[in-house]
Amino acid sequence: MLTVAPRVVEILVAFALAYVATLSLTLVIWTFRDIQTRTTDVFVQAVSTLFVAVFNLPGLILYLILRPHETLTEQYERSLEEETLLQDLKQDLLCPSCNQVIQPDFQMCPHCRMRLKRQCVECGRMLELDWSTCPFCTTPIGATVP
Ligand SMILES: [Zn+2]
Ligand SMILES: [Zn+2]
Repeated sequence: MLTVAPRVVEILVAFALAYVATLSLTLVIWTFRDIQTRTTDVFVQAVSTLFVAVFNLPGLILYLILRPHETLTEQYERSLEEETLLQDLKQDLLCPSCNQVIQPDFQMCPHCRMRLKRQCVECGRMLELDWSTCPFCTTPIGATVP
């Protein structure tokens, strides 16, 4: 009995060590994968992974606080969204001749009197100058571009 007890303790300690080792390895692998989705900077990736490898769980908590809060995919999506928003704001709102702000249903630029659109003689909808037929009521307009 006296010789069995230290054996049991030894096995328990070995299990505990294996458990802690596996846990810290998992934390390091998780951190490495996570930082790769957040930055392309190899130095930051190495430092973050090393930090968690050395300090373990407290290191992971610090990493979670300090890591870039957006992943690269999120950053990319946000920049795309911003670009689309900007383009929507800019689109079709400037006169091609004088670059003053105009509205999409203007027939003529109020600033430089440039002809922008014309009205269908049949249905009265606004038509682009280079259209030969009204797409709304199918009336042929002919090439009366001024
Ligand atoms: Zn104009
Ligand atoms: Zn029409």
